[in-house]
Amino acid sequence: MANIVSIVGRPNVGKSTLFNRLIEERKAIMDNESGVTRDRHYGHAQWTGHYFTVIDTGGYVVGSEDIFEGAIRDQVELAIEESSVVLFMVDTMAGLTELDKEFANVLRRYKKPVLMVANKAESLERYHSSAEFYELGLGEGIFPISSQTGYGTGDLLDEVVKYFDVQGVENPEEGIPRIAIVGRPNVGKSSFLNVLTGTERSIVTNIAGTTRDAIHTPYKAFGREYILIDTAGMRRKSRVKEDIEFYSTIRSVKAMEESDVCIVMLDAQNGLEGQDMTLIGQADKAKKGIVIMVNKWDAVEKESKTADHLQKAMLERLAPMNYMPIIFASVLEKQRIFQVMEKTMEVYENKHRKITTSKLNEVMQQVIANYPPPAFKGKHIKIKYMIQLPTPSPTFVFFCNHPKYIKEPYVRYLENRMREHFDFTGVPLTLFFREK
Ligand code: GDP
Ligand code: GDP
Repeated sequence: MANIVSIVGRPNVGKSTLFNRLIEERKAIMDNESGVTRDRHYGHAQWTGHYFTVIDTGGYVVGSEDIFEGAIRDQVELAIEESSVVLFMVDTMAGLTELDKEFANVLRRYKKPVLMVANKAESLERYHSSAEFYELGLGEGIFPISSQTGYGTGDLLDEVVKYFDVQGVENPEEGIPRIAIVGRPNVGKSSFLNVLTGTERSIVTNIAGTTRDAIHTPYKAFGREYILIDTAGMRRKSRVKEDIEFYSTIRSVKAMEESDVCIVMLDAQNGLEGQDMTLIGQADKAKKGIVIMVNKWDAVEKESKTADHLQKAMLERLAPMNYMPIIFASVLEKQRIFQVMEKTMEVYENKHRKITTSKLNEVMQQVIANYPPPAFKGKHIKIKYMIQLPTPSPTFVFFCNHPKYIKEPYVRYLENRMREHFDFTGVPLTLFFREK
């Protein structure tokens, strides 16, 4: 579906230098949009109108003595399998090494097109020495480049794009739900993340580094694609409980900010606590999709109607923020994990629901006729028509004669009726009143 280019090779040949060069321009644009820098081993690049994803496999080798160690090798091999074309990088400064030969042997096992990239070829001497790598007998050709100066990268990319069978899209992440798993410490977030990522093939797995930013990792599960936002790098070891709470809260808020839908996880043994309410309130305010996952359901003594009663009680407590789905699950027993993800996808779709102006007016005019806004200070209030704005979360404007006289209870009435007619489960709605 997407064009993927992976950069492989032994450490220090210059993989991440090339990676940064390829995604640099695009990264600058993305950072401006989201206000965050993303430290990760994959990024989006563009050449002559072809869009593609670059994977820097070097990220998996960092800090490891043996680059052919199990887990790392798995990730590198996964990246190769996903690739349209593989860039096998060698170093003209160091010349041909044993490790290069080992890498070449690994690559030979795949039926993937390989381009040999002879890096650090700034000088004429090194440019010519790139010929020695023909000995490896691998690849469709050798491209002497300098990742540092950019020399030769144009010719390389001209060749790379020939291996794409699709045009690619400018932002391949567009339309893919970004999901954050948030909640208090110990509710089971890491366990859930492990279940999701452990059983499914990830395109890229990020090694938790020292980054303070959220990491976005694409996954495929249940035939759907989604991006998990993790802030593992922000985890701190601390003996002080308040500190753990504090960092946990910052992590949650940060992940939430960058998400489309957040799964707010609770511990069934504790129920809905004050901190959970705060978190849900923040998500509501930030106009994020919300799914409540009550975890550790296995640890609760239950009778036949326990879930129903608990759900009802929780929704009452949440009111008026009681529009979100609540799922009782157990990560430990892998119970209703699938439902949680399905609901999350549904909420994402609800968040992008667009109601046509004619349908909206047809339904809401009737709602208003059934119970018109009460007169205020002797003024008759008339809502004339309404529209949905083209915003990332559902926002509606009601045009009327005296906007400031429409009071909170009436806004709630409109919102509740709207939810009855259109499926906005899990999604905060915004209603504006404008004079017309
Ligand atoms: P990686 O381990 O393969 O990702 O390699 P890096 O990108 O971290 O680069 C390793 C070292 O080689 C760094 O010191 C870079 O500055 C240097 N380097 C990378 N590309 C070039 C290049 O084109 N020319 C020269 N002279 N040095 C380079
Ligand atoms: P986090 O701090 O939110 O990331 O929570 P963890 O994933 O580290 O889990 C905290 C503890 O709860 C661990 O001891 C888990 O084994 C346990 N745990 C996680 N999920 C479940 C569950 O579904 N049922 C039970 N009984 N325990 C769980």
